[in-house]
Amino acid sequence: MVDSNFQILYSKDRIQERVEALAGEISDYYQHCNEPVVAVCVLKGAFIFFADLFRKLRVQPEIDFVRLASYGEKTYRDEKVVCEKDLEVSIKGKHVLVVEDIVDTGCTIDYFTRHLRERGPISVKVCALVQKRERSEIDVALNFSGFYLERGFVVGYGLDYAEKYRHLEDIWTMPE
Ligand code: 5GP
Repeated sequence: MVDSNFQILYSKDRIQERVEALAGEISDYYQHCNEPVVAVCVLKGAFIFFADLFRKLRVQPEIDFVRLASYGEKTYRDEKVVCEKDLEVSIKGKHVLVVEDIVDTGCTIDYFTRHLRERGPISVKVCALVQKRERSEIDVALNFSGFYLERGFVVGYGLDYAEKYRHLEDIWTMPE
């Protein structure tokens, strides 16, 4: 299934505990909002996290999906993030919760939240399963974070390496 030099970083039980806690925080935050809430899943990596989180929320947002791609070296000045599949619902006058798998340099989420804010939402908040600290280039204000990771490349629970390992229930670190 995985190479013998992969190691479990977050077990499936630990992931579910964190997802439950995040769902609680997010529900508390949105439960008194009178306006609609749209939860946006950033494909592909966040799809399992999104499905688990969504089913544990005490609020019922609309859902939508986007696919972002980045090309070449990602730096703040040389931004090469493009939206390959855009939102289908309008977010004007609504609260938006973006659900990402990992925030690493912050370039992807910075680009995407700026793109969203041009469409007149009331608010844009970001929830990431994993927030890395190693290469952080942009001071992205994450509103809800599952785990903080100092370094390393992780797979499993929707996260891939070359389209492999998404099916794993735990999150693993790959050897460097
Ligand atoms: P950023 O623009 O924040 O540098 O990159 C975020 C994106 O890079 C994530 O959405 C994810 O697709 C990818 N990424 C960053 N670190 C990892 C990692 O450790 N594992 C996997 N599978 N993808 C990662």
